[in-house]
Amino acid sequence: MNTSAPKLYSLSLLQKDANKKYNYSTKEILDVAQSLYEKHHCISYPRTSSSYVTSADISEMHKAFYALQQSEYRPYVEKGIPALVHPNNKAVCDEKKVDDHHAILPTDKLPKELSEKEQRIYDLIVRRFLAHFLEPALFEKYVVYTSVLEETFKTTASVLLRKGWKELYTEEKEEEETEDEFLTQALLLQEHGDVRCTDTKIQEQETKPLPLFTEGTLIDAMLKAGSKVEDEEARELMKHTGIGRESTRASLIELLKARKYILVKGKSLLVTDKGTFLIETLRQKKIQTLTSADYTGEWEKRLKMIENQTYSPQEFMKIVRKFTESIVAEAGTIQKTYVKEQVDFGTCPKCQKGKVLGGKKGYGCSLWKEGCTFTLWKSQYGKTLSTAQVKALIDKKETGVLTFTSQKKKDTKYKAKLKLTDDWKVVLEFAE
Ligand SMILES: [Zn+2]
Repeated sequence: MNTSAPKLYSLSLLQKDANKKYNYSTKEILDVAQSLYEKHHCISYPRTSSSYVTSADISEMHKAFYALQQSEYRPYVEKGIPALVHPNNKAVCDEKKVDDHHAILPTDKLPKELSEKEQRIYDLIVRRFLAHFLEPALFEKYVVYTSVLEETFKTTASVLLRKGWKELYTEEKEEEETEDEFLTQALLLQEHGDVRCTDTKIQEQETKPLPLFTEGTLIDAMLKAGSKVEDEEARELMKHTGIGRESTRASLIELLKARKYILVKGKSLLVTDKGTFLIETLRQKKIQTLTSADYTGEWEKRLKMIENQTYSPQEFMKIVRKFTESIVAEAGTIQKTYVKEQVDFGTCPKCQKGKVLGGKKGYGCSLWKEGCTFTLWKSQYGKTLSTAQVKALIDKKETGVLTFTSQKKKDTKYKAKLKLTDDWKVVLEFAE
């Protein structure tokens, strides 16, 4: 069984890989790639949506390949076979899949004095490029069925016969192949022969929730957005665009961060209260269209019709104008409710005079200078309270039944209400 090298890098693929490996933001990766292109001239134009080249680019690829002989990549160049990269190799060369720019390639100019970030991004690009000059990795795959009493057990295993392009990625874990056990030598088994069972164990597993988005996987999702759009024509059009353009996706993510709709924690992206509030509100109001991929597809469809002169641009602008006016009118009221919900937690339950104000970590009485000590932390028993839960605690002195995660055993959950006691402490009341 042959495994071919992964596709050459488009900007999105590079962002996905570099984010996963180094946790750089997608915007950072774009900026670094831009500097490798503009300042160091060692890679081709990076703002590309293509992972392929045209036949006209093949000779440039060969030139860059030979230039790398004078670099630290020399051992790979020596093992490489230039004849593998030719116009009929559909894994590299496909005219139909190149729009304005081809995949990101190293140039024949070797860079000098790269920063650490530049060096890392350049390394990713060069390795991906060289992978196509090395032979496919070759495996022998075994599937063994073993009958024990009435049951049949399936075992799969692989033997790596030739590393090929995988030599470029030796320090990386074989994540995709974790299902298979890698054997160091060929498997010697006789069909219908007897085997001895030496050990058994029962594994209990639970299904895990979908992992949180990272910037890299979000870029990927934006790229594929629209694949579930109902209207066939709109879906077809979105296939080529997704959400945003190759060069703008990173700045869309930056914008969401800057406006505090999302935040980065480790590698994961989390939605802030503000972000949840926005989406929920948009969905409740008439403007849920703004949160749907179908709508983007519909607009792409109309733009295409205008391009083909089957739809009038004036007509389109009329609709856009009307739509914008209705949104602005709705959005005005949203802003007001948001501001109100952020600030007004009503009268202080302790002194009955001050107002409860929100701070970074919690809530407190506006008359604290006058001596009112009422405070309420946002985080209670390991759970961050929502605005509604805080309001309930202040107004009704209790919340509904909430689910908490045990602080000692992280996989244990329990249900309880939060109650505000007469001396203004927050306690748990366990549900039956
Ligand atoms: Zn007070």
